[in-house]
Amino acid sequence: MPFDPATIRSEFPILATEVNGRPLVYLDNAATTQKPQAVLDASRHYYEALNANIHRGTHHLARAATEAHEHARETVARHLNAASPDEIIFTGGTTDGINLLAHILPVRAGDEILISTLEHHSNIVPWQLLCDRTGAELKVIPCNDSGVLDQDAFRSLLSEKTRVLSVGWVSNSFGTVNPVAEMTAAAKQAGAYVVIDAAQAAPHFPIDVRALGADFLAFSGHKVYAPTGIGVLWGRRDLLEKLPPWRGGGEMIKEVSFSGTTYNDPPFKYEAGTPNIEGAIALAAALDWVNALGLGAVHAHEEKLIRHAADTLSEIDGIHLYGPADRCGALSFKLEGVHHYDLGTLIDQMGVAGRTGHHCCQPLMARFGITGTTRASFACYNTLDEVDVLATAVSKAATMLR
Ligand code: PMP
Repeated sequence: MPFDPATIRSEFPILATEVNGRPLVYLDNAATTQKPQAVLDASRHYYEALNANIHRGTHHLARAATEAHEHARETVARHLNAASPDEIIFTGGTTDGINLLAHILPVRAGDEILISTLEHHSNIVPWQLLCDRTGAELKVIPCNDSGVLDQDAFRSLLSEKTRVLSVGWVSNSFGTVNPVAEMTAAAKQAGAYVVIDAAQAAPHFPIDVRALGADFLAFSGHKVYAPTGIGVLWGRRDLLEKLPPWRGGGEMIKEVSFSGTTYNDPPFKYEAGTPNIEGAIALAAALDWVNALGLGAVHAHEEKLIRHAADTLSEIDGIHLYGPADRCGALSFKLEGVHHYDLGTLIDQMGVAGRTGHHCCQPLMARFGITGTTRASFACYNTLDEVDVLATAVSKAATMLR
């Protein structure tokens, strides 16, 4: 099937929106992606035809909903090339998955948690809270002026004290793609647990957790064309079996008595309470949808878009682009003498939805001595024409604001 953005766009009802009489140019995909009809249909079908609480129910709908939910888990496992669906924990999103890990990993006073300057707050704050609880220490891999992690510094920070390496695969602010397979190998050799924040990787290229060699990987459904409130934490089965549960409640137990409780097997051990059943089913629909398109083709298309964006934007006087040339998904920029908020507001008036601010990466912004940027981020349905609209809008805004 040829990769045709026009056909793809026709599957997204929201992309027909007009803003101030102009067609919406949606370039805020790193924040959340829009949803194709197949995903909207899956959500609706769940409530129209399947809605019931899952597991334990003997009636027809409970069985049908359980089957659809567990089928979704199998779809996710296949998508990630996980060894088994039992390695797939449904979460509320990346933030939820990382918080879970920050509560179950065996970290003690004197241990070190290694993250990087590029991290999203959701891969910083849960570890800071863990350090506060345990007396462990947070260490940070620095980046260079192009927003690329310093691998020598990374290796020198690794030691027998490193208990956890938790690193983003792709930076949501600068689009930097980190060499996570190599970093994982080095951290495993040092005896650390390895956590990969794949929130910005999952929408842009295929992920093979077995090839990666990490212990855990988290992503959010809503950035891969699925609804909000559903996400995935993949974990190695032997670890999920050994590690303690976190949240207590229904689903996660084998037997409860007032003298003690035994826990369910993974993944259920980590899924206390009624889950987001519709979300899991819609996530599977989204993964099926994007896999039919082919994540390889999506990646190639998005690469063209982001290169064209970098080329056209860099012609504007006084613009500064952040991140390396081979960025993925997101492009951050700043106009000299212009506040990013003003720029974002003006381009919105021209129909362009970008994002302004610190992108939940305040330490990264501090590293570059700025409070924020304007960011354009791309998905499979964006077009080269839209990139031109962005460049024209930024150029016009530059003239108006200076
Ligand atoms: N990590 C990265 C790299 C992200 O881009 C995001 C979302 N912007 C998150 C984590 C958090 O994802 P969520 O808000 O869906 O939990």
